[in-house]
Amino acid sequence: KKAAFQTYVFFVLILGAVFLATYYFYRLTSTEFLERKIADSLLTITENVDEAISYKMDSDYQRLEHYMDGKTYDEVDGEVLNGLLSEDIEFARITEDGLEYKGLLLLFNQTFIPENTIENKISIVNFSDMIIGTTDTKSYIFFNVNDVLFFIDSNSYLNKMFLSSEDLPENMYFLINKDGLIYYQLDMEANNKFYEYYLRSSNSEQVATSVKEQIYSGEASYKTSITFSNKEYYLCYSPVSNQSTSNEFYVVYLFETESAFSSMGMLTYQLVTLFGLYCLIVILAIIGIYIILMRKNSDIEGSMVIHYYDKPYIIRVNKKGKILGYNSTVRRTISRRMKYKYVNEFEHEDGVDLVDAIKKQTPFTVSFDDVDDLRKSVLMIPVKNIFSKYLVGTDITYQDSSYKSKTLHNQITNLPNLDLLLDVLDRHIKYLEHCAVKDREVLKSSIVLFDIKQFSNFNKVFGRKMGNQILCKISERVKKYLDGKNADLYHTEIDLFAIFFDSLESFEQVSAYVEEIIDLFKKPLEIDNNNLIVDIKCGIFNIELQKYDKLDARKAYENCQITLMQAKSLTSLKYAVYNATFSTAATKEQAMTKDLSIAIEKNEFVMFYQPQYNNEERRIVGFEALVRWDNPKYKFQSPAIFIELAEKNNMIIQIGRFIMDQTFQAAKRFEKYNIHVSMNVSPVQLMQAGFVNEVLECANKYELKAGSVAIEITETFLMENFNYIIEKLNLLRNKGFSIHLDDFGTGYSSMLYLKELPINTIKIDKEFIRHLATDKYSRAIVNKIVSLARSLELDIIAEGVEKDDQNQVLIKTGCNIIQGYLISRGVSFDDAMQLVNEYNVEKTKQIAKVKKVKKG
Ligand code: C2E
Ligand code: MG
Ligand code: MG
Repeated sequence: KKAAFQTYVFFVLILGAVFLATYYFYRLTSTEFLERKIADSLLTITENVDEAISYKMDSDYQRLEHYMDGKTYDEVDGEVLNGLLSEDIEFARITEDGLEYKGLLLLFNQTFIPENTIENKISIVNFSDMIIGTTDTKSYIFFNVNDVLFFIDSNSYLNKMFLSSEDLPENMYFLINKDGLIYYQLDMEANNKFYEYYLRSSNSEQVATSVKEQIYSGEASYKTSITFSNKEYYLCYSPVSNQSTSNEFYVVYLFETESAFSSMGMLTYQLVTLFGLYCLIVILAIIGIYIILMRKNSDIEGSMVIHYYDKPYIIRVNKKGKILGYNSTVRRTISRRMKYKYVNEFEHEDGVDLVDAIKKQTPFTVSFDDVDDLRKSVLMIPVKNIFSKYLVGTDITYQDSSYKSKTLHNQITNLPNLDLLLDVLDRHIKYLEHCAVKDREVLKSSIVLFDIKQFSNFNKVFGRKMGNQILCKISERVKKYLDGKNADLYHTEIDLFAIFFDSLESFEQVSAYVEEIIDLFKKPLEIDNNNLIVDIKCGIFNIELQKYDKLDARKAYENCQITLMQAKSLTSLKYAVYNATFSTAATKEQAMTKDLSIAIEKNEFVMFYQPQYNNEERRIVGFEALVRWDNPKYKFQSPAIFIELAEKNNMIIQIGRFIMDQTFQAAKRFEKYNIHVSMNVSPVQLMQAGFVNEVLECANKYELKAGSVAIEITETFLMENFNYIIEKLNLLRNKGFSIHLDDFGTGYSSMLYLKELPINTIKIDKEFIRHLATDKYSRAIVNKIVSLARSLELDIIAEGVEKDDQNQVLIKTGCNIIQGYLISRGVSFDDAMQLVNEYNVEKTKQIAKVKKVKKG
C-alpha cells in the first residue's frame, strides 16, 4: 500500500510539474500571441485613421483648388464654400505681414514663420500662435490655394475621423509633427505641448527619447507599456503620408491595454477554453491513474491477505549470485536485508560455494535473523529463468537442526537448549562407559523427545507471538509435572522438547510417565482467554550402552528423533520406543536420493492411469497419469515422496520429461474415445524456462488435439501469485490445455483469488471426501466448494472417492466427476484401455446404484 501510495505521489508530482510547465508556456505563448494579435489590430486601426485623414485632406484640397480655378479672393462665396466641404469653413488672404479676414487685417506674431506653415498647401496651426492679440485658441487646418487661406476648426474636422470606429478600445489620440509638437488632440488646451511631455510625465526619459527617435525615423511602429495616469497603454503611431503637407504629421494612438485585451475577448475565451480542456484531461489522467493504482493495490492487498500464511521466499539473482530482487516474503521476513547484496553474504554451510551451487542448480540452505531477531533457515532451490535465476526458498527452520543457538538457553521458554542437553548426555554416556557393566544396568536413563502436532500451523494462523505463548504454556505444564522426578526438560528446537530421565527404576516407568505427559494435554491450554487443544507425539530412546557398539550424545539424540518420526508417521501411535529398525529409516532419504538418480538413468519409471468417471454421462471422461517407481525396493512408495525428493534435488526436470512423453503418448491413444489425460506438473517444472515450449513440442510430436491433455497444478503453488507462472498457464490454456487445480482446499484457501486464475477445473482434495458420508462439516465444505466452482463456471472433480455413499452425497451436491478407488486405482495403460472398453464402449460395467441425477 505504501509502495502504491509512493508511486501515486510520484505520478502526481510529475503530472503537477508537467501541468505547471504547460501552464507557464501557455501563459507565455498565449500572452505573446494575444499581444501580437492586438498589436496588429491596433496598428491597422492607426494606419486606417491615418489614411482616412490624409485622404480627406487631399480630396478637400483638390475640391478647393477646383473651386478656386480662375477665381480671386474677392470672388469667393462663403455659402457655396460651406456646401462644398460640408464643414464650417472660413477663408482669408495671406498678406505680407498678416491675414486679410473679412476686411480686417490680422497681424502675424513675430515668432510665426509662414513659410514653414501656412505657405504649405495644408497645415495645422494654432490660431493664437499665429495672430497677435486673438482670443481664439483653437487650432485650424489651413488649406492654401493660391495664397487664399481656407481654414476649418481642426477639432470638428479630425474628431470624426478618430472616432469613426465604434468598438475601439479606450484610447487617446494625437496628431503630432516630426518635432513632437502636438497639433491636434481632443479638447486641446491653449498651448501646444510637446508630445514628449506626455511621455516624460509617464515613463522615463529613456522611453521618451526612444519613441521620439523612432518617430523621427518615420516608421510606423507599436510599443507596449506606456503608462499614463496610472494606466497601461499600447502606443501606436503612423506618419500621415500626404504629399500636400510639408510639415510631416503623425497619427498617434494610445490604446488602453486592459480594454485592448478585452476587445480581443473572443480570442482569449478560446484560448482559455482550450487550456481548461487541457486541465480537465490532466485531472482525469490523475484520477485515472489513482483508480488504476488503487485497484492494483487492492489486488495486491487481497492477494497478500490470502498469501499471508504460506509464501515461499523468492530471490532473483544473476549468475554471479548478485541479488537482483526479491518477493514480499523476503521483504517481510529479513530484517537486515539491505545488507545482503550477494547471496554469498547469507550465512550458509561452510565450504559451500553458493555461486557454484546456483550454477549447478543444487539446493542449499541459508540462515539469517528475521525481523523478530529469530533465527531462520531457508532451503533454496535454484531455478533457471531466461536472464536470471530464481532461488525458491522454503522455511525449514522447524526442521533444521544445523542452527545452534548461541546461548545455552532457549530464548522463548528459557529452558536449557540442545547444546546443554548434548553436553549433559555426553558426560552421562562417558560416565556410563567408565562404570562396571553391572552398575550400568542399574543406572537406567532415557531421553524422551516430543513435539507439538501442527505447531507451524498454529504459528501461521495465530501469529508468532501466540505461538511463543503456546510453547511457554507447554513448558510450564510439563515442568510442573516433572517436579520431584529425576528429570530435566530441554527445549531443543522450535517446537521440540526433550526430557532426560535419569536414575529410572525401570524403562517401563518412562512409558508410564510419557502416557501421563500425553494426558496432561487433554486439558486445553488457556491462552489470551482462548482454550486451545494441543496434541503431542513422543519418541523414547532408552540409553542402554550394551545394545550399541558406539553411542554418543549426538547419536542418542538422533535415535530419539528417528523414534519421534516413527510415532508421527502412524496416526494411531501417541509415542514410540526406539527400535533398531527405525534407524534405517533415517538414512532412507539419502539412499533414496541416490537410487533416484540411478532410476533416472535406468528409466525405472512407469505411468499408471486412474480413471475419472462422469456420473451423469456414465462413462470415463479422463485419466490422471500417476508416476510409479518400478523398483521392488520402492514398490509401495507414494510418488509424492520421491517427487518431493526429486524436486529438492533438481531431478524433477528429467523425470518430468519422461512423464510428459508417456502421458502425451497415452493421451493420443485415448483421444478417439473423447477422453483426456491429466498430467501432474511440479512447481519446479513450471518455473523452469522453456517449459511451455517443451510441452508444445511434445504435444506436436504426438499431434494432440486441443483438450486432450489437462495440466494439474497444486493450489498452494498457485497462491505464490507469480505473474509469469500465471502467464505460462494462460499460454498453455490458449494452446488448448485445460488447467486443473489439484488438492483444492488443502492450501490456505485461495477462494477469493480463484476467479483470477487461469483454471478450468477444481479437484476437491480427498481429505474432504473421506468423511463425506458421516461428517456434516466435510459435507458443508464440499457443498461450498461446488457452489463456488459453479458460480465461477469451473468444473469439479472429486478425488479419493472410495465408497458409494460418498458418491451419492457428491451426486446430490452436483459434483459429477469422480476419481477414486470406487472406479479404479491407477492402472497400467493396457488395463486403463480395458476399463475404457468396459465402461464406455461395451457398457458392461457401471458403478452401482447411480440414482437419477437432478440437474442444477
Ligand atoms: P495427486 O495428484 O493428488 O494424485 C492423487 C493421489 O490420490 C494419487 O496418489 C492416487 O493414487 C490417490 N488416490 C486416488 N484415488 C484414491 C482413493 O480413492 N483413496 C485414496 N486414499 N487415494 C486415492 P499417488 O499416485 O500416490 O500420488 C500422490 C501424489 O504424488 C499426487 O497427488 C501428485 O501430487 C504426486 N504425483 C503423482 N504422479 C505424479 C507425476 O507424474 N508428476 C508429478 N509432478 N507429481 C506426481
Ligand atoms: Mg493430481
Ligand atoms: Mg490430488
